Amino acid sequence: MRLSLIVVSTVVLLALSTVSLVVYRTNQRQLGVLELRAQKERALMDDQLRLAREVRLLGELNEWLQSSRSLDELFDMVSRFMTHILPEAEGSVYVYSNSRDVLDGCASWNGGAHKAHIHPEGCWGLRRGRTYEFGASEIDFVCEHAEPHDGRPYFCFPILAHGEAVGLLHLRALEGREACFHKSRKLAQPCAEQISMAIANDRMRDQLHDQSVRDPLTGLFNRRHMTETLRKSISRSQQTGAALSLIAVDVDHFKKFNDTHGHDAGDMVLRAVGGALEQSCDRDEVACRVGGEEFMLILPDNTPDDAMTRAEQLRQAIEAVAVRYGEKALPRITISVGVAHYPKHGTMPRDLMRAADDALYVAKDQGRNQVQVAGESQIQPKRSEADSDPKNSDAA
Ligand code: GH3
Ligand code: MG
Ligand code: MG
Repeated sequence: MRLSLIVVSTVVLLALSTVSLVVYRTNQRQLGVLELRAQKERALMDDQLRLAREVRLLGELNEWLQSSRSLDELFDMVSRFMTHILPEAEGSVYVYSNSRDVLDGCASWNGGAHKAHIHPEGCWGLRRGRTYEFGASEIDFVCEHAEPHDGRPYFCFPILAHGEAVGLLHLRALEGREACFHKSRKLAQPCAEQISMAIANDRMRDQLHDQSVRDPLTGLFNRRHMTETLRKSISRSQQTGAALSLIAVDVDHFKKFNDTHGHDAGDMVLRAVGGALEQSCDRDEVACRVGGEEFMLILPDNTPDDAMTRAEQLRQAIEAVAVRYGEKALPRITISVGVAHYPKHGTMPRDLMRAADDALYVAKDQGRNQVQVAGESQIQPKRSEADSDPKNSDAA
């Protein structure tokens, strides 16, 4: 009886421990499943947080880039943002020079360095017109601009604006960060797109500004810009006492020239005169086309003697200009020149321009192809009523 009791209780105990083992194992399994699920959810959450941060940073990058006022400011912003957005990459950015034969190094960040110039043929990204990823394939070729190369993976993103390549964004993995660098391509691509847009906008703004201050025929500044620059130069001379001179130039008998050789030949002459004036300018000096065949030069820091010498040099330089129109060499052109000084002949842009113009008309009256200084001749200039208002000679 006692024995059978012992047997029964042992069996019951065994059964109970088996059941609790089964329950324990089941619980463990469920715990494992729950832990796995929690890990997945945590990873998903991390991904979503990372994505949200990237979207926010891209939005901020876009906003800052849109508000930049110059390419230098823009590249400063790019450097700071890229270091923050892609800390695993060093980078540099290049922009095509105006001649388009090379790209100029503009900025680098996070330990990266940019070269002064690189050749577009030396970059696989630019040559193939799409992103180049070094280190993703079994066989890779190193871009010339990435030399000397230590084997670290890198990206070359061509910067495109309106379908045309305007530059290059180059990113290279930092040492020891190669593994996460490959994943950064997804984020680097929209960054490159935003930088492209910002550069395109900046260029468009420059072009629009240029159009509003330049004369399209000669490329010189127009009358509007001249008046503004003269105002600033006068204000500077007022404050510092620096010398300031103004030279007015008018091509002699230009109407006859046009009538004889045609308007196109006349245009070529205006371009040649504009080029000679531009070439004669130094530092802060500014050459402008203020009307049809009328030009002005603002010469800061030029004393009356300096300005007279400059005006005479100009007259001789224009006389020596040889212009060809098709097969034919056009006849020699001459200019009449008037010189005025601040403050002797005026303290306002309008007065100074008028004084230089008056001197110019004296030069015309005295036989053309000569220089006259304002207020030094006894001969009163002959002006028609229309001529006497400086507003009537607005820039072409
Ligand atoms: P002066 O020696 O007294 O200055 O005589 P001028 O013939 O040069 O002066 P005028 O004011 O009588 O004629 C200026 C001419 O310049 C008339 C106009 O047809 C010409 N002109 C104005 N703008 C342009 C232009 O953009 N291109 C060309 N080809 N000619 C122009
Ligand atoms: Mg003339
Ligand atoms: Mg004229």
